[in-house]
Amino acid sequence: MNRFLLIIFILAFSTRAFAQLNNQIKKEAKKQTTYALELCKYLHENPELSFQEFETSARMATELKALGFEVTEKFAGNSVVGIYENGDGPTVFLRTDMDALPIEENTGLPFASKKMGDLEGNMVAVMHACGHDIHMSTWTGTLRTLVALKEQWKGTLMVIAQQAEEYSGGAGQAIDAGLFSKFPTPDYALAYHINPELETGQVGLRGGPVFAGVKTVEITVYGKGGHGAYPQKCIDPIVISSRIVNDLQTIVSRELSPTEPAVVTVGSIHGGTRPNIIPDEVKMQLTLRYFSDETIEKVIAAIKRISENAARAAGVTEDKLPFVDVFAVETPPVLNDDVLSAKVSGFAADIIGKENIIETQPEMVGEDFGKYGRTEEDIPICLIWLGSTSPEEMQHLKAAGKAPFPLHSPQLNPDYENTIETGIAVMAGNVIGLMNK
Ligand SMILES: [Zn+2]
Ligand SMILES: [Zn+2]
Repeated sequence: MNRFLLIIFILAFSTRAFAQLNNQIKKEAKKQTTYALELCKYLHENPELSFQEFETSARMATELKALGFEVTEKFAGNSVVGIYENGDGPTVFLRTDMDALPIEENTGLPFASKKMGDLEGNMVAVMHACGHDIHMSTWTGTLRTLVALKEQWKGTLMVIAQQAEEYSGGAGQAIDAGLFSKFPTPDYALAYHINPELETGQVGLRGGPVFAGVKTVEITVYGKGGHGAYPQKCIDPIVISSRIVNDLQTIVSRELSPTEPAVVTVGSIHGGTRPNIIPDEVKMQLTLRYFSDETIEKVIAAIKRISENAARAAGVTEDKLPFVDVFAVETPPVLNDDVLSAKVSGFAADIIGKENIIETQPEMVGEDFGKYGRTEEDIPICLIWLGSTSPEEMQHLKAAGKAPFPLHSPQLNPDYENTIETGIAVMAGNVIGLMNK
């Protein structure tokens, strides 16, 4: 056989093998969806709040053990870590979150949650209104698919069912407890999140910012209290705070570049008790959203400058200037690695077709998955959006001028089966793709 013919032969053979593998992945994903859907209904009916994922984590551990994973339970709280070694190859990390929200469900689903949870001493209704039930069952289905197809890849699967995503505690706690030193350091880290604005069968992807960073700031403005009838004898912290709130609006509009997205929202302001008393102090709480460290540093410096100078302008002495407290707990932005996202986009296209890979815009809400990409190990991360509204429902809604119920809505009602099936097939395809390259 001459060389040219040999190349043609190899190409034809590998293209066929490749198509066969993708069909195998899709077939296995479909098979595993039946199991994952039942699991999802159970999880949906039995949600648990952040840091209280006791039964949920036990169930995730049981699923992993049944697949032959080496399991570490109660890792940094309720998180569960699993390792599955399958020969020499890369280590791929796959994360699911487990926690639900203090929301009273209003979907009318047969498996709707009737559960109550304890939120700081109060019993409150609990609901999986952020799709973490779908994440867990898709994650389980993905792992079942990968184990069933273990002849098709070589490497190590490292997985975590993570506690307390909604509180932004879980990822940081697992990392602080030595996730990447006690276990192998992953070469890639992957996760999914449902997205009601995309149709089932589609995934949303982008390199770069996906979710914003979140910081909380508290400002205490000090004045000089006294009788409301003698303002001349006082320094009114309510008036100073009003100026600060107004001037904070100029940080994003006047100090940042228009191409640099950020949010400065004052969500809480408290001062005073009676109409005729000028209080001693006012407290404000702010949420800040950003996509780069440089932006957040600029925003915090501006908040301090504006607050201090508004107080100085009102005659506050240097020792009584406002105290700007930047909370240590933060959620960094989720920044998808460009190279990894491009690879994942290619693998996903092989499974569901290029036309179903939607380039999404960054969201200003937070997600603590970003923390896995900000450790000294510098692991490339990629979070993909899973479309969760059926195309028929989307068409119906559009015709009526409506939008799907968003995440955290008491009426969130995804198309469970199709979301899970696409999620399993795409993620299994991603992992096998990464293991084989
Ligand atoms: Zn959420
Ligand atoms: Zn979520």
